Amino acid sequence: MTEVDKLSPGPRDGVNYPLHISYCGNCTMPIEYCEYYPEYEKCKTWLEKNLPSEFEKVKIGDDGADGAGEEEKKRQKRGGKGMIKAKKKEDGPKQVCVSRAPRGKKKSVTVVTGLSTFDIDLKVAAKFFGQKFACGSSVTGDDEIVIQGDVKDDLFDIIPEKWPEIDEDFIEDLGDQKR
Ligand SMILES: [Zn+2]
Repeated sequence: MTEVDKLSPGPRDGVNYPLHISYCGNCTMPIEYCEYYPEYEKCKTWLEKNLPSEFEKVKIGDDGADGAGEEEKKRQKRGGKGMIKAKKKEDGPKQVCVSRAPRGKKKSVTVVTGLSTFDIDLKVAAKFFGQKFACGSSVTGDDEIVIQGDVKDDLFDIIPEKWPEIDEDFIEDLGDQKR
């Protein structure tokens, strides 16, 4: 690989810089320079024993010359994206849950959870509920809003109206919480 190859076309998405450099135990050079070392065959033997993954790249390099580095970067890029997708999957099902909780002797509050599974800003949502029902409404947890009043049944209409991506079917009625 020449200096020009290394400098262009610059940083890529999905590749962490600086790139990890492995050094050869035979010639002590970064392994990409091994091929310029007279004892390249010994280098390869060392690589095969000590850095099998790097040895695979060298072998690819022998076949495809300069294209190999390119291929490797693409592979890293794809791998990175794959990991992001896998992470998203772990978020679990999207669902909003509403329930009624007693407050004092006669009053109830309404608890809404799960809005953040739809990427909804909880502060915005709490403010919206407060205005809609003309009552107190605040974010009380990681993904929990408490509305001061018994408005649970209304939420089945109001939530899909405000956020069309949340179908009424995505709203689970947990009923009354007991304390
Ligand atoms: Zn070497």
